[in-house]
Amino acid sequence: MDRFAKIIVDISHEKVDRPFQYKVPDALQGKLTPGMRVRIPFGKGNRQRTGYVIEVGDVPEFPEGKMKEIQDVLGGDTEPQQRMIALAAWLKEQYGSTMIQALKTVLPARRRVALREKKEVKLAVSVQDAKERLESFVKKHQTAKARLLSELIREERLDWELVTKRLHVSPQTVKSLEEAGVVLQTAVTYYRNPVKLDAVREEGKYLSDTQRHIVESVLGEFDQNRRRPYLIHGITGSGKTEVYLGLIAGMIERGRQAIVLIPEIALTYQTLLRFYKRFGERVSVMNSSLSAGERQDQIERARRGEIDVIIGPRSALFVPFPRLGMILMDEEHESSYKSETMPKYHARETALELARLSDAVVVMGSATPSLEAYSRAMRKEFGLFTMKERLAGGRLPQVYVEDLRRELREGNRSIFSRRLQEKLGERLLRKEQTMLFLNRRGYAGFVSCRSCGYVCKCPHCEVSLSEHRNGKLVCHYCGFAQPALSRCPECGSPYISGFKAGTEAVEEQLLKRYPQAKVLRMDADTTKTRDSYERLLSAFANREADILVGTQMIVKGHDFPNVTLVGVLAADLSLSVNDYRAGERTFQLLTQAAGRAGRAEKPGEVVIQTYQPEHYCIRYAAAQDYEGFYREEIQYRTLLSYPPAAHILAVQLFAAREEEAQGAAQEAARLARCASKKEEAERGVCNVRSLAPQTVVIGPAPAHIGKINDVYRYGVYIKSKDYQRLVEIKDLIEQYRAGQEHPKGNCQFDFDPMSAY
Ligand code: ADP
Ligand code: ZN
Ligand code: ZN
Repeated sequence: MDRFAKIIVDISHEKVDRPFQYKVPDALQGKLTPGMRVRIPFGKGNRQRTGYVIEVGDVPEFPEGKMKEIQDVLGGDTEPQQRMIALAAWLKEQYGSTMIQALKTVLPARRRVALREKKEVKLAVSVQDAKERLESFVKKHQTAKARLLSELIREERLDWELVTKRLHVSPQTVKSLEEAGVVLQTAVTYYRNPVKLDAVREEGKYLSDTQRHIVESVLGEFDQNRRRPYLIHGITGSGKTEVYLGLIAGMIERGRQAIVLIPEIALTYQTLLRFYKRFGERVSVMNSSLSAGERQDQIERARRGEIDVIIGPRSALFVPFPRLGMILMDEEHESSYKSETMPKYHARETALELARLSDAVVVMGSATPSLEAYSRAMRKEFGLFTMKERLAGGRLPQVYVEDLRRELREGNRSIFSRRLQEKLGERLLRKEQTMLFLNRRGYAGFVSCRSCGYVCKCPHCEVSLSEHRNGKLVCHYCGFAQPALSRCPECGSPYISGFKAGTEAVEEQLLKRYPQAKVLRMDADTTKTRDSYERLLSAFANREADILVGTQMIVKGHDFPNVTLVGVLAADLSLSVNDYRAGERTFQLLTQAAGRAGRAEKPGEVVIQTYQPEHYCIRYAAAQDYEGFYREEIQYRTLLSYPPAAHILAVQLFAAREEEAQGAAQEAARLARCASKKEEAERGVCNVRSLAPQTVVIGPAPAHIGKINDVYRYGVYIKSKDYQRLVEIKDLIEQYRAGQEHPKGNCQFDFDPMSAY
């Protein structure tokens, strides 16, 4: 019998981050399984704590007499997921976090939320009987009872709300009727489906040859028990989503379930509708706007086999399907697939691991695959499919690259090139729509003194403050705000002002130039809620505006058939970011922006404005040549040992005092250097011929943005071709810190970070 259980205590502290063994009381014999939440006494004072069962067995690891006993089960109704526990252990190992953090990532249903109950009142007697009683109530002037009965005679069962609120029958009255055996109160549990769509069911489209080939190949290999990941490289509009639908249908036929990962921002009504039309009630959605209860319900429905498909951002990976068959990952290159909190996992790698544990396959799709995925496809680790044609008609747009330096030289001081002005004018005349895309919110919105060069910075974060139209200067990191300045605090000069080129400024300029145009602006400020985001999109789709101005969020997966012009206002802004992924990101953004133009029968045009027309990212994006871009970019990554050619471990140390953060970083760097020296020594002895570059340790250095919210950050970067080498170094640092009485500051790990720090 399983008399003992290993438990991870729910305390996020490096010191107690190991399993503790407990006795299983008789009452719980045979009832405990890994994944359950339990109440346990813990520590010297036996304080009550909660913990997660990760293993049960019958071998005590220390004398039974000293072993404490589990008190009771908290999450008794949650079906255990051995697989999720294994996944948590993998996350902890691969990305560095405490076990409890990893468990909380994969077992999201940790909060017990009462399932919503629908209370109803119904007759407990026959209708004939009820009618007789009704007469007697009427005679006795018991009007409330009479009201209820006469309704029940007509309606058989009534909603509790209706009874109490609309019929004004008090709960006491219902109760006394129940005690008299006349009515019955029942509670019906029901699960909330967060999406209310009265979608008309639709059969799948007749697939094109390419689409059918992909669906049949993947399902064919699946049936032959061949499991390997696939990458679909397909331009926007080539029919990837239709392929996903075909694959999911295949999974459902085989009695398997599918997880569809879609970046939150692309999780629009339009997209969801396609899934709902095809699979109806068997689909559910998970997103950040769901309440804890709704999340819990989705998980419950998945567990009970009531749904076959869950759609959501990266956390949808952890929905516990009993027979998971496929994980689809749309827009595979998206940086939001990387978690920003510990464990800082990547959904792609995690999906691959989950698929391995579940005998499932992973299918990724993108118009601009990440270098990571594409290089693995090149090495035949992933099966590769290419889709080059747009299906719903629509040719690829004509792309113009406009050199902003030349515009200035030739006397155009506006933020719109002459070409863009001309094209924009045409669109307004023809009543066609335009999307204008600005690389980053509030970029160069900083305020400086033209006399002495002083820049207004946030006192907490050391980044420049941005000027908003309401006159405030705002920090985009911590939200600090102060009134605008009329004089320079350094030299007293009145020439202090902001460079206006954020989305607000673009909107202003547009209205000045084209007063008759209707302009919508979409950025983080105008889309604080999901509702406002959807409202703006549908307003634009309904042609309530001529021009949509926005940040990257406007380029993601929306179909606007009437958009025939896309303008990119400063294409190279993202190139100047100090980050090895800057080129890749710029290429992706430009390609996606271009993909927005001319999606229906009307031909599209794209104007890319740039200060660096000769840059390879701009050239390849303008030519819509992914392979060309890939060949050049992978050379650069290889030359400089950046992912995917090598791996990077960023160790970040946080502390309220600068010396402490710095000291902790120095320790981490010292440990990493020791580890790599040892490696060199080993290589010298036993593998002299190896030319593989050894582990390189960079830093410590104050992080790029040194201080956020009054916390100092220092970073150490470690590069190696061998990921496992970095995992070992991470372990070494973890162990060292766990062994210290008072480890300095806080330590976080980030493998292959998505951006520079
Ligand atoms: P992607 O996901 O690659 O952007 P979609 O699957 O959204 O592409 O397809 C683009 C457009 O082509 C959509 O309007 C879709 O309805 C249409 N489409 C896709 N496959 C077919 C098909 N086999 N026959 C007709 N139209 C299709
Ligand atoms: Zn000044
Ligand atoms: Zn700040």
